[in-house]
Amino acid sequence: NRQFLLAQRPVGLPSRDTFSYVETPLGEPAAGQILVKNLYLSLDPAMRGWMNDAKSYIPPVGLGEVMRALGVGQVIASQHPDFAVGDHVNGAVGVQDYFLGEPKGFYKVDPSRAPLPLYLSALGMTGMTAYFALLDVGAPKAGDTVVISGAAGAVGSIAGQIARIKGCRVVGIAGGQEKCRFLIDELGFDGAIDYKSEDVAAGLKRECPKGVNVFFDNVGGDILDAVLTRLAPKARVVICGAISQYNNKEAVKGPANYLALLVNRARMEGFVVMDYAAQFADAAREMAGWMAEGKLKSKEDIVEGLTTFPEALLKLFSGENFGKLVLKV
Ligand code: NDP
Repeated sequence: NRQFLLAQRPVGLPSRDTFSYVETPLGEPAAGQILVKNLYLSLDPAMRGWMNDAKSYIPPVGLGEVMRALGVGQVIASQHPDFAVGDHVNGAVGVQDYFLGEPKGFYKVDPSRAPLPLYLSALGMTGMTAYFALLDVGAPKAGDTVVISGAAGAVGSIAGQIARIKGCRVVGIAGGQEKCRFLIDELGFDGAIDYKSEDVAAGLKRECPKGVNVFFDNVGGDILDAVLTRLAPKARVVICGAISQYNNKEAVKGPANYLALLVNRARMEGFVVMDYAAQFADAAREMAGWMAEGKLKSKEDIVEGLTTFPEALLKLFSGENFGKLVLKV
């Protein structure tokens, strides 16, 4: 069983030295356990946070432990009443060839209904994040202007499309012309701002003449600050993520312009997808319906080979990924 263990806690960007690569003999499931052949792993910005020894919504990965990763795989041996050999499952399988353990939080997926990588993107945690962060925390109304940062990424691209389905004017902020064109031409966004080549404040002024009713933030830092200056009265700012800050060697940069919340009687609210676990199945059904109707597109960026894991993960932080980053084991 090839495994990546967390070897040290990175300062700044992780690298190959952050992990140790080992090959260990495969065991057999004990009572209550399953053995899963991992097929696809989800590479998530959150993995960077799990490497830190800090209090968060989930405990950090311990040094010497298998690096945590969500993924889908197939059960090849089972001592658990709910899972049979041949079942496909989604769960925290880890960065390794095989998962052996209790299937805590695992659930079955059906490869005859959708390709497996889709269970890590639109129909998985990514889609659930977009759906609940936008609809529950952002609470968009038809006609609202919704701005999304990290808009061409996995979560952002789905959140923007859901906002379109709900009748909003949607503006995406993304890095590069190609991603901005994709938002407008392929996903039907109303406007796009390329933060790498244009001034974000000027772009917001152009694209959001009536101000911003909902800001779905995946990025934080300077982009959050720029959007705060354009809030409409009673705006909702959803703190879904802050990827620009995850590899900081110094303190996270907080918003300098937060008094815009006061002036506009606006609110900023954090979001953690796991809080909505009880409603995932219903949301996934609705998302699958939108996909079948052609209203929602999911794009996956699939990288091959377990051993490429340390470099593949970095694509999230350089913006090299285009769509949900998935590692095919
Ligand atoms: P993405 O597919 O969006 O990939 C990350 C993207 O972030 C990159 O492609 C890049 O796009 C952009 N990016 C990276 N560094 C910077 C930077 N310094 N400034 C601006 N943009 C940057 O990943 P996900 O969709 O998986 O995750 C998006 C966000 O959602 C993350 O913040 C993540 O932590 C959060 N999240 C939160 C959850 C929750 O429960 N709160 C659950 C799941 C995800 P570009 O080329 O445009 O720069």
